[in-house]
Amino acid sequence: MREDRMNCSCKYSFSDDGKKLTPRRDVPSYPKYTLSQETIEALKKPAFDVWHWEHNEMLSCLEYMYHDLGLVKEFNMNPITLKRWLLGIQENYRNNPFHNFRHCFCVSQMMYGMINLCNLQEKLTLTDLGILMTAAVCHDLDHPGYNNTYQINARTELAVRYNDISPLENHHCAVAFQILSLPECNIFANVEPEAFKQIRQAIITLILATDMARHGEILDSFKLKVDNFDFTNEEHVTCLKMVLIKCCDISNEVRPTEVAEPWVDCLLEEYFIQSDREKSEGLPVAAFMDREKVTKPTAQIGFIKFVLIPMFETVMKLFPQIEEIMVQPLRDSRDHYEELKQIDDAMTEKKKTENMSLGGKKK
Ligand code: 5GP
Ligand code: MN
Repeated sequence: MREDRMNCSCKYSFSDDGKKLTPRRDVPSYPKYTLSQETIEALKKPAFDVWHWEHNEMLSCLEYMYHDLGLVKEFNMNPITLKRWLLGIQENYRNNPFHNFRHCFCVSQMMYGMINLCNLQEKLTLTDLGILMTAAVCHDLDHPGYNNTYQINARTELAVRYNDISPLENHHCAVAFQILSLPECNIFANVEPEAFKQIRQAIITLILATDMARHGEILDSFKLKVDNFDFTNEEHVTCLKMVLIKCCDISNEVRPTEVAEPWVDCLLEEYFIQSDREKSEGLPVAAFMDREKVTKPTAQIGFIKFVLIPMFETVMKLFPQIEEIMVQPLRDSRDHYEELKQIDDAMTEKKKTENMSLGGKKK
């Protein structure tokens, strides 16, 4: 995990350089590892320890998921192209504290876990599963480590290019299709042009849905459908897929405490780098990113209570099996952070009283 925590020099530059998109090393150097039966079983579960693995091992896991779901067969993928595509993906994630290749792996592994847990193979088409997995793998490509608000306020190249409209998500998606436009990395090379058009449109829709500025809009739209959900209705299925990628994107707190908690440190590290820079550049600073105002418990309690639990409880109406495996860990995590907050508050109160009595003695 340590290599992910390196900070990158993030003066933004657009990676339309073909050399950067093409994997620098070729496939013979990977896979270095074959997956044990134990790993293969664990990979299907949200409890999977995502910190245990090196990049090469995560690549092997992702490759396995594509084979296991039947996507290689369905899209008639060249297995070597799949390996090369994955290498290209990995090389186009930056070493940010949070938005790095390990986060891409987490989101993709959670998607694979939800496909298995919710029996999505029986409810959706293989094309839909390919769209879900590929959007998850690509969803934060070339993330610069500074969020949309920063992009817009600092008037970066990205914000100018995308007219302040989800600049990051538009960029992740553009990089995804730049990689797929390289013949040696195109996992959809053997798909008919008409089918490719549809897959492309659907992947764009899903990656753009990961902009949290659209959270309320997307969840509200899903709530209108969920009580009369119709798996034969294209609009319903598209909305479900949008909610699924959103769930996976922000699912760290579904994982066991020891797996989830380091991610909060990573997120805060990235937030603090941004807010320090905003202060030095005279730009507005959001309270939730400010090292003077936020703590781990305060960052997590509101997010779990008002974002995660309401969304996962809505999905639970359609897939009751997620309650035990995904929703309960969220409730436990909320309780854990509320306890931590009480301890923090008690410490602050104690310090205040001590300072007051010290002040009193001085007089
Ligand atoms: P992403 O940037 O990964 O595509 O979108 C998810 C966003 O949701 C993150 O940038 C971050 O702001 C927020 N987020 C995801 N997970 C957590 C979490 O565990 N806690 C908090 N406070 N925010 C999170
Ligand atoms: Mn993400």
